[in-house]
Amino acid sequence: MADYSNLQALQSDLSNGKTSCTQLVEHYLQKIEDNKDLNAFVEVYSHDARSRATVIDAKIKHGTAGKLAGMVIGVKDNIAYQDHGLSAASKILEGFTSLFSATCVERLLEEDAIIIGRLNCDEFAMGSSNRFSHYGPVKNPLDKNLVPGGSSGGSATAVAAGLCMASLGSDTGGSIRQPASFTGIYGFKPSYGRISRHGLIAFASSFDQIGPFANSIEDTALLYEVMAGADQYDNTCSQREVTPVSLDGEKRAHKIAYFKDALENASLDPEVRAQAEAFIEKLRAAGHTVEGIDFPLLEYLVPTYYILSTAEASSNLARYDGIHFGYRSPNAHDLESTYKLSRTEGFGPEVKRRILLGTFVLSSGYYDAYYGKAQKTRRLVSDKTNEIFQDYDFIFSPTTPHTAFPIDQVESDPTQMYLEDIFTVHANITGCPSISLPLAQHKNGLPLGMQFTAAKYEEADLLQFAQTLVNN
Ligand code: GLN
Repeated sequence: MADYSNLQALQSDLSNGKTSCTQLVEHYLQKIEDNKDLNAFVEVYSHDARSRATVIDAKIKHGTAGKLAGMVIGVKDNIAYQDHGLSAASKILEGFTSLFSATCVERLLEEDAIIIGRLNCDEFAMGSSNRFSHYGPVKNPLDKNLVPGGSSGGSATAVAAGLCMASLGSDTGGSIRQPASFTGIYGFKPSYGRISRHGLIAFASSFDQIGPFANSIEDTALLYEVMAGADQYDNTCSQREVTPVSLDGEKRAHKIAYFKDALENASLDPEVRAQAEAFIEKLRAAGHTVEGIDFPLLEYLVPTYYILSTAEASSNLARYDGIHFGYRSPNAHDLESTYKLSRTEGFGPEVKRRILLGTFVLSSGYYDAYYGKAQKTRRLVSDKTNEIFQDYDFIFSPTTPHTAFPIDQVESDPTQMYLEDIFTVHANITGCPSISLPLAQHKNGLPLGMQFTAAKYEEADLLQFAQTLVNN
């Protein structure tokens, strides 16, 4: 069967009977089976997917199918789907089954998407490589010795390897955009509060956002529109109307800023810099104004993110106590040893590191020095960013300072990896929408994401602009 990489191509063949959802599901199940070594899926819902395909094929025949009919989707293992397993790739949630579906999952199902399985990720979405999973590392389909990025590594690999058409991930500090960059696909983080977090396992609640991975802007925009909008189950979800995305709008000349210091940053691979500079020239040639600006807060972004996100994580993860959910240590003999042993045995090393860090920055002697300062810095970063958006439509940077790195790369200092997030965390600190576009290639042959960030709630503008770049 033909490989349908996006929904538009597929839906015309579905409506004229050239193919069916049933055939499509069989095709993906076979591909998942053939590519098991990528370790992208934690669980495949073959039975469910087959029976939904039959139902949706009937709807297509009767002309009653929803907007996402034929869209076969994988969901990151931290987004709830009723009566299905959910573990955030952690031993501590071993055997846990969700009692309800995330709001975004319900909205996808209402539009007749087919969910084919749950996808591997870093434990509790903490990481940039997908090596911190209870189920083992995910491989990059472009080179199996390389990481696909993280934390939504399974979501990126599944789409890049054609194991499903699109997928959902979560992005707290870059976990959609960085793996999209490493695997050569589209990854979109909408504004904070644009898509409900109800049913997303919390990592850092003031940063977490759900978003899609896809092979095209059309699919990205469609999934975004279906999932976005107010939700009574999430008070941080915005009540604002969702601006419809029009992808065939006229081409406009935009004003784009980039941070001069970011491109001169010592951690940046010189070839990534060269590619970013070449991309800036392309933007100028296409009629856009692109200007380098000063952003003196750049060096504070990664520390601010890691102080606040670990503080929130230490609080959010307190609920995994060996009693309420999942794993309980068989060696426990009283209440205290139940807590201690279940958490000691249930959490992996990176999660423990973050809980310790978060507890430390919140502790009474250090609260003002770390947590309080980071909160103030977050405000300064947001104010400065809002000022930039008075003058510019978008902020541009490469998505990542490097291309995908080897799975067996050894880091002597675990916090070294945190610097990988230098370009992505800005959008999470400020709550802005941000997208990684697979529009550049490193001379080592690997893809390199080009990232654009817009002012809060300007998703429609951002996606429309992205489409003009893709069409160029
Ligand atoms: N890599 C970042 C971290 O380790 C981002 C994770 C995420 O966005 N979930 O925290």
